[in-house]
Amino acid sequence: MRAVVTREPGRLDFVDDAVAEEVRPGWIAVDIRHVGICGTDYHITEGKHPFLEYPRIMGHELSGVTASAGIDMAPGTPVIVNPYISCGSCIACRRGKPNCCTRIAVLGVHTDGGLRERIVVPEGNLYPAGDLSLRDAAMVEFLAIGAHAVRRAEAEPGARALVIGIGPIGLGAAIFAKIAGLDVTLLDTSVERLGFAREALGFERSVIAGPAAAGEIAHMTEGDGFDVVFDATGNARSIEAGFSFVAHGGSYVLVSVVRDEIRFSDPEFHKREMRLIASRNATRVDFEHVMAAIRAGQVPTDRLATHRATLEEAPERIKSWAHEKSGLIKAIIDL
Ligand SMILES: [Zn+2]
Ligand SMILES: [Zn+2]
Repeated sequence: MRAVVTREPGRLDFVDDAVAEEVRPGWIAVDIRHVGICGTDYHITEGKHPFLEYPRIMGHELSGVTASAGIDMAPGTPVIVNPYISCGSCIACRRGKPNCCTRIAVLGVHTDGGLRERIVVPEGNLYPAGDLSLRDAAMVEFLAIGAHAVRRAEAEPGARALVIGIGPIGLGAAIFAKIAGLDVTLLDTSVERLGFAREALGFERSVIAGPAAAGEIAHMTEGDGFDVVFDATGNARSIEAGFSFVAHGGSYVLVSVVRDEIRFSDPEFHKREMRLIASRNATRVDFEHVMAAIRAGQVPTDRLATHRATLEEAPERIKSWAHEKSGLIKAIIDL
Protein backbone atom coordinates (compact mmCIF):
# COMPACT_ATOMS: atom_id res chain seq x y z
CA MET A 1 0.00 0.00 0.00
CA ARG A 2 1.26 3.49 -0.90
CA ALA A 3 1.79 5.92 1.99
CA VAL A 4 3.81 8.94 3.05
CA VAL A 5 5.68 8.32 6.31
CA THR A 6 7.21 11.13 8.35
CA ARG A 7 10.27 9.37 9.83
CA GLU A 8 11.50 12.40 11.76
CA PRO A 9 11.29 16.18 11.39
CA GLY A 10 12.26 17.14 7.84
CA ARG A 11 12.24 13.55 6.60
CA LEU A 12 9.13 12.47 4.72
CA ASP A 13 9.28 9.28 2.64
CA PHE A 14 6.95 7.97 -0.01
CA VAL A 15 6.67 4.18 0.37
CA ASP A 16 4.70 1.59 -1.58
CA ASP A 17 4.93 -1.27 0.92
CA ALA A 18 3.07 0.13 3.97
CA VAL A 19 1.10 -2.55 5.82
CA ALA A 20 -2.69 -2.14 5.79
CA GLU A 21 -4.53 -2.35 9.13
CA GLU A 22 -6.95 -5.13 10.00
CA VAL A 23 -10.63 -4.19 9.98
CA ARG A 24 -11.97 -4.66 13.54
CA PRO A 25 -15.62 -4.92 14.63
CA GLY A 26 -17.39 -1.55 14.47
CA TRP A 27 -14.64 -0.07 12.29
CA ILE A 28 -14.64 0.42 8.51
CA ALA A 29 -11.86 0.47 5.90
CA VAL A 30 -11.82 3.63 3.78
CA ASP A 31 -9.97 4.11 0.50
CA ILE A 32 -8.62 7.64 0.80
CA ARG A 33 -9.19 9.99 -2.15
CA HIS A 34 -8.12 13.44 -0.89
CA VAL A 35 -6.13 14.75 2.08
CA GLY A 36 -6.08 18.41 3.08
CA ILE A 37 -2.78 19.64 4.52
CA CYS A 38 -2.79 22.22 7.31
CA GLY A 39 -0.72 23.99 9.94
CA THR A 40 -0.65 20.91 12.16
CA ASP A 41 0.97 18.92 9.34
CA TYR A 42 3.55 21.63 8.70
CA HIS A 43 4.37 21.66 12.42
CA ILE A 44 4.80 17.87 12.40
CA THR A 45 6.96 18.11 9.27
CA GLU A 46 9.20 20.68 10.92
CA GLY A 47 9.31 19.05 14.38
CA LYS A 48 7.37 21.88 16.04
CA HIS A 49 4.47 19.80 17.31
CA PRO A 50 4.49 19.62 21.13
CA PHE A 51 3.48 15.98 21.57
CA LEU A 52 4.17 13.69 18.69
CA GLU A 53 5.97 10.42 18.24
CA TYR A 54 7.75 9.64 15.00
CA PRO A 55 7.46 7.84 12.68
CA ARG A 56 3.97 9.08 11.89
CA ILE A 57 1.65 8.94 8.88
CA MET A 58 0.08 12.40 8.84
CA GLY A 59 -3.29 13.37 7.38
CA HIS A 60 -6.47 14.29 9.26
CA GLU A 61 -8.51 16.21 6.65
CA LEU A 62 -9.80 13.21 4.79
CA SER A 63 -12.32 12.06 2.23
CA GLY A 64 -12.65 8.64 0.67
CA VAL A 65 -14.87 5.73 -0.25
CA THR A 66 -15.75 2.90 2.15
CA ALA A 67 -14.08 -0.41 1.31
CA SER A 68 -15.80 -2.64 3.86
CA ALA A 69 -19.32 -2.89 5.27
CA GLY A 70 -20.45 -1.39 8.58
CA ILE A 71 -23.76 -1.64 10.40
CA ASP A 72 -25.36 1.27 8.53
CA MET A 73 -22.86 1.81 5.76
CA ALA A 74 -22.33 -0.19 2.58
CA PRO A 75 -19.01 -0.55 0.77
CA GLY A 76 -18.59 2.09 -1.95
CA THR A 77 -20.11 4.94 0.09
CA PRO A 78 -18.34 8.32 -0.38
CA VAL A 79 -17.47 9.62 3.08
CA ILE A 80 -15.92 12.40 5.13
CA VAL A 81 -13.73 11.17 7.99
CA ASN A 82 -14.07 12.86 11.38
CA PRO A 83 -10.47 12.42 12.59
CA TYR A 84 -11.24 12.80 16.31
CA ILE A 85 -11.40 9.31 17.76
CA SER A 86 -13.10 9.57 21.16
CA CYS A 87 -13.46 7.02 23.98
CA GLY A 88 -17.25 7.24 24.30
CA SER A 89 -17.24 6.94 28.10
CA CYS A 90 -15.33 9.86 29.68
CA ILE A 91 -16.98 12.92 31.23
CA ALA A 92 -16.80 14.89 27.96
CA CYS A 93 -18.10 12.01 25.82
CA ARG A 94 -20.99 11.45 28.28
CA ARG A 95 -21.90 15.12 27.87
CA GLY A 96 -21.98 14.82 24.08
CA LYS A 97 -18.66 16.60 23.65
CA PRO A 98 -16.40 13.98 22.01
CA ASN A 99 -14.39 16.87 20.52
CA CYS A 100 -12.79 17.37 23.95
CA CYS A 101 -12.69 13.70 25.04
CA THR A 102 -10.14 13.20 27.81
CA ARG A 103 -8.64 10.30 25.84
CA ILE A 104 -8.97 11.81 22.34
CA ALA A 105 -6.79 10.36 19.59
CA VAL A 106 -6.55 12.54 16.50
CA LEU A 107 -5.79 10.68 13.28
CA GLY A 108 -2.51 11.86 11.81
CA VAL A 109 -1.34 13.28 15.15
CA HIS A 110 -1.69 10.82 18.05
CA THR A 111 -2.20 7.87 15.72
CA ASP A 112 -1.53 7.25 12.03
CA GLY A 113 -3.66 9.30 9.67
CA GLY A 114 -4.76 9.23 6.06
CA LEU A 115 -1.75 10.06 3.89
CA ARG A 116 -2.04 6.52 2.54
CA GLU A 117 -4.28 4.48 0.30
CA ARG A 118 -6.41 2.91 3.01
CA ILE A 119 -7.27 3.67 6.64
CA VAL A 120 -9.50 1.88 9.17
CA VAL A 121 -11.71 4.07 11.39
CA PRO A 122 -14.76 3.67 13.67
CA GLU A 123 -18.01 3.70 11.70
CA GLY A 124 -19.30 6.53 13.89
CA ASN A 125 -16.49 8.76 12.60
CA LEU A 126 -17.69 8.47 9.00
CA TYR A 127 -20.29 10.82 7.53
CA PRO A 128 -21.78 10.15 4.08
CA ALA A 129 -20.58 12.82 1.65
CA GLY A 130 -23.64 12.38 -0.58
CA ASP A 131 -23.39 14.59 -3.65
CA LEU A 132 -20.48 16.64 -2.31
CA SER A 133 -17.36 16.29 -4.47
CA LEU A 134 -14.68 14.29 -2.64
CA ARG A 135 -12.28 17.24 -3.05
CA ASP A 136 -14.76 19.46 -1.19
CA ALA A 137 -15.39 16.65 1.30
CA ALA A 138 -11.70 16.79 2.31
CA MET A 139 -12.17 20.51 3.13
CA VAL A 140 -15.07 19.98 5.55
CA GLU A 141 -12.90 19.27 8.62
CA PHE A 142 -10.89 22.49 8.70
CA LEU A 143 -14.01 24.54 7.98
CA ALA A 144 -15.86 22.66 10.76
CA ILE A 145 -13.33 24.00 13.29
CA GLY A 146 -14.36 27.55 12.35
CA ALA A 147 -18.05 26.59 12.33
CA HIS A 148 -17.65 25.08 15.81
CA ALA A 149 -16.04 28.28 17.12
CA VAL A 150 -18.97 30.31 15.79
CA ARG A 151 -21.45 27.93 17.42
CA ARG A 152 -19.55 28.22 20.71
CA ALA A 153 -19.90 32.02 20.58
CA GLU A 154 -23.74 31.82 20.74
CA ALA A 155 -23.95 35.28 19.15
CA GLU A 156 -27.13 36.81 17.79
CA PRO A 157 -27.42 37.73 14.10
CA GLY A 158 -26.27 41.29 13.59
CA ALA A 159 -23.64 41.08 16.33
CA ARG A 160 -20.32 42.65 15.41
CA ALA A 161 -17.53 40.09 15.15
CA LEU A 162 -13.77 40.46 14.77
CA VAL A 163 -11.71 37.53 13.49
CA ILE A 164 -8.02 37.87 14.35
CA GLY A 165 -5.63 35.77 12.25
CA ILE A 166 -6.95 34.71 8.88
CA GLY A 167 -5.13 31.53 8.01
CA PRO A 168 -7.43 28.70 6.89
CA ILE A 169 -8.98 28.29 10.38
CA GLY A 170 -9.62 32.02 10.78
CA LEU A 171 -11.09 32.21 7.28
CA GLY A 172 -13.37 29.30 8.19
CA ALA A 173 -14.50 31.14 11.33
CA ALA A 174 -15.10 34.30 9.28
CA ILE A 175 -17.10 32.44 6.61
CA PHE A 176 -19.34 30.74 9.19
CA ALA A 177 -19.70 33.90 11.27
CA LYS A 178 -21.02 35.60 8.12
CA ILE A 179 -23.36 32.66 7.43
CA ALA A 180 -24.64 33.02 11.04
CA GLY A 181 -25.52 36.63 10.22
CA LEU A 182 -22.70 38.28 12.15
CA ASP A 183 -21.19 41.51 10.90
CA VAL A 184 -17.58 40.43 10.30
CA THR A 185 -14.34 42.42 10.39
CA LEU A 186 -10.94 40.76 9.86
CA LEU A 187 -7.60 41.57 11.49
CA ASP A 188 -4.29 40.19 10.23
CA THR A 189 -0.66 41.16 9.74
CA SER A 190 -0.77 40.24 6.03
CA VAL A 191 -2.10 42.82 3.60
CA GLU A 192 -2.02 40.12 0.92
CA ARG A 193 -4.25 37.78 2.96
CA LEU A 194 -6.70 40.58 3.75
CA GLY A 195 -6.77 41.42 0.03
CA PHE A 196 -7.55 37.79 -0.80
CA ALA A 197 -10.34 37.73 1.80
CA ARG A 198 -11.85 40.85 0.26
CA GLU A 199 -11.53 39.82 -3.36
CA ALA A 200 -12.30 36.08 -3.12
CA LEU A 201 -14.60 35.91 -0.09
CA GLY A 202 -16.22 39.34 0.03
CA PHE A 203 -14.91 40.51 3.43
CA GLU A 204 -14.82 44.28 2.87
CA ARG A 205 -13.89 45.40 6.38
CA SER A 206 -10.43 44.72 7.72
CA VAL A 207 -7.78 46.05 10.08
CA ILE A 208 -4.04 45.60 9.61
CA ALA A 209 -2.38 44.40 12.82
CA GLY A 210 -0.03 46.93 14.34
CA PRO A 211 0.15 49.99 16.58
CA ALA A 212 -2.76 51.71 14.81
CA ALA A 213 -5.14 48.73 15.12
CA ALA A 214 -6.59 49.60 18.55
CA GLY A 215 -7.46 53.13 17.46
CA GLU A 216 -8.99 51.91 14.24
CA ILE A 217 -11.11 49.34 16.09
CA ALA A 218 -12.31 51.96 18.58
CA HIS A 219 -13.23 54.22 15.66
CA MET A 220 -15.09 51.59 13.63
CA THR A 221 -17.12 50.44 16.69
CA GLU A 222 -17.82 53.92 18.11
CA GLY A 223 -15.58 53.06 21.04
CA ASP A 224 -17.59 49.95 21.97
CA GLY A 225 -15.35 47.15 20.71
CA PHE A 226 -16.69 43.92 19.18
CA ASP A 227 -19.53 41.77 20.53
CA VAL A 228 -17.50 38.68 19.65
CA VAL A 229 -13.79 38.36 19.02
CA PHE A 230 -12.35 35.14 17.58
CA ASP A 231 -8.65 34.43 17.93
CA ALA A 232 -7.06 32.14 15.32
CA THR A 233 -3.50 33.43 15.46
CA GLY A 234 -1.66 30.77 17.44
CA ASN A 235 0.27 33.62 19.03
CA ALA A 236 0.17 34.27 22.79
CA ARG A 237 0.89 38.02 22.58
CA SER A 238 -1.83 38.40 19.99
CA ILE A 239 -4.31 36.49 22.18
CA GLU A 240 -3.49 38.83 25.07
CA ALA A 241 -3.96 41.94 22.93
CA GLY A 242 -7.35 40.67 21.74
CA PHE A 243 -8.96 41.03 25.20
CA SER A 244 -9.09 44.80 24.77
CA PHE A 245 -11.07 44.53 21.51
CA VAL A 246 -14.06 42.85 23.23
CA ALA A 247 -17.11 45.02 24.02
CA HIS A 248 -18.64 45.18 27.49
CA GLY A 249 -20.93 42.14 27.71
CA GLY A 250 -19.10 40.50 24.82
CA SER A 251 -17.31 37.18 24.24
CA TYR A 252 -13.79 36.14 23.37
CA VAL A 253 -13.45 32.79 21.61
CA LEU A 254 -9.99 31.22 21.56
CA VAL A 255 -9.81 28.90 18.58
CA SER A 256 -6.06 28.57 18.29
CA VAL A 257 -4.08 26.96 21.08
CA VAL A 258 -0.64 28.08 22.26
CA ARG A 259 1.85 26.31 24.52
CA ASP A 260 2.53 29.46 26.52
CA GLU A 261 0.58 30.91 29.40
CA ILE A 262 -1.60 33.86 28.54
CA ARG A 263 -2.13 36.80 30.88
CA PHE A 264 -4.84 39.39 31.05
CA SER A 265 -5.92 42.20 33.36
CA ASP A 266 -8.66 41.02 35.68
CA PRO A 267 -10.21 44.52 36.04
CA GLU A 268 -10.39 44.84 32.22
CA PHE A 269 -11.88 41.33 31.97
CA HIS A 270 -14.23 41.82 34.88
CA LYS A 271 -15.59 45.25 34.08
CA ARG A 272 -16.68 43.89 30.71
CA GLU A 273 -18.31 40.81 32.28
CA MET A 274 -16.64 39.15 29.34
CA ARG A 275 -17.17 35.49 28.44
CA LEU A 276 -13.91 33.70 27.67
CA ILE A 277 -14.56 30.59 25.58
CA ALA A 278 -12.23 27.84 24.36
CA SER A 279 -13.14 26.14 21.12
CA ARG A 280 -11.58 22.77 20.37
CA ASN A 281 -11.95 20.64 17.23
CA ALA A 282 -15.53 20.09 15.99
CA THR A 283 -18.43 17.67 16.31
CA ARG A 284 -20.80 15.96 13.90
CA VAL A 285 -23.22 18.93 14.05
CA ASP A 286 -20.46 21.21 12.77
CA PHE A 287 -19.43 18.81 9.99
CA GLU A 288 -23.05 18.62 8.83
CA HIS A 289 -23.46 22.38 8.99
CA VAL A 290 -20.37 22.80 6.80
CA MET A 291 -21.58 20.18 4.30
CA ALA A 292 -24.94 21.97 4.01
CA ALA A 293 -23.23 25.34 3.53
CA ILE A 294 -20.96 23.99 0.76
CA ARG A 295 -23.98 22.42 -0.97
CA ALA A 296 -25.81 25.74 -0.71
CA GLY A 297 -22.89 27.48 -2.48
CA GLN A 298 -22.01 29.55 0.60
CA VAL A 299 -18.35 28.46 0.70
CA PRO A 300 -16.10 29.22 -2.30
CA THR A 301 -14.10 26.00 -1.97
CA ASP A 302 -12.50 26.50 -5.41
CA ARG A 303 -10.86 29.69 -4.18
CA LEU A 304 -9.72 28.15 -0.88
CA ALA A 305 -8.11 25.07 -2.50
CA THR A 306 -5.05 26.85 -3.89
CA HIS A 307 -2.47 24.03 -4.20
CA ARG A 308 -2.53 20.33 -5.01
CA ALA A 309 -0.17 17.39 -5.51
CA THR A 310 -0.17 13.60 -5.85
CA LEU A 311 0.79 11.25 -3.00
CA GLU A 312 4.16 10.59 -4.70
CA GLU A 313 4.85 14.33 -4.87
CA ALA A 314 3.64 14.95 -1.32
CA PRO A 315 6.95 14.59 0.63
CA GLU A 316 8.73 17.34 -1.33
CA ARG A 317 5.69 19.55 -1.77
CA ILE A 318 4.66 19.48 1.91
CA LYS A 319 8.18 20.48 2.93
CA SER A 320 8.14 23.46 0.56
CA TRP A 321 4.53 24.48 1.39
CA ALA A 322 5.58 24.66 5.06
CA HIS A 323 7.71 27.72 4.13
CA GLU A 324 5.39 29.17 1.51
CA LYS A 325 4.06 32.53 2.61
CA SER A 326 2.41 33.74 -0.55
CA GLY A 327 -0.87 32.58 -2.05
CA LEU A 328 -1.21 29.31 -0.12
CA ILE A 329 -4.52 28.80 1.61
CA LYS A 330 -5.33 25.08 1.45
CA ALA A 331 -3.18 22.43 -0.21
CA ILE A 332 -4.77 19.08 -1.06
CA ILE A 333 -3.17 15.74 -1.86
CA ASP A 334 -5.01 13.66 -4.48
CA LEU A 335 -4.73 9.88 -4.30
ZN1 LIG B 1 -6.13 20.50 9.91
ZN1 LIG C 1 -14.10 10.37 25.92
